[in-house]
Amino acid sequence: MTYDSNNIFAKILRGEIPNKTVYEDEQVLAFHDISAAAPVHVLVIPKGEYVSFDDFLGKASAETVHGFFERVRKVAHIVEAQEGGYRLITNHGRNASQSVPHFHVHILGGRALGGLLPGDALVR
Ligand code: AMP
Repeated sequence: MTYDSNNIFAKILRGEIPNKTVYEDEQVLAFHDISAAAPVHVLVIPKGEYVSFDDFLGKASAETVHGFFERVRKVAHIVEAQEGGYRLITNHGRNASQSVPHFHVHILGGRALGGLLPGDALVR
């Protein structure tokens, strides 16, 4: 998997495109999704260059992976999603409709989110 340093999240990390930051440290940036699908819709991205979850788990150290997911939880608490509940989504590749090729986790909450997949979830 080759990382494309012109993807939109790479540009956000370089400060070339603005974002609504929720949390930032040396490892991650968390910001509001530009097209929110729920009252809480925050994206958490590592600052390292990883194409997707699959790439991240394949390349990053156990410490980095653990640290990343600890921060996802921290961000969920910052936006106070833990009380009502939240869903994590990470899309890898074509079948999952991943649109930005920089690993990210969606934190969704703030309302009842319904079933796992929108619409008819039957496998065809
Ligand atoms: P995915 O389909 O899992 O790759 O999700 C990419 C997400 O990035 C989508 O939910 C988009 O709305 C979101 N997105 C795209 N561009 C921006 C941006 N400039 N700032 C914030 N979120 C963005």
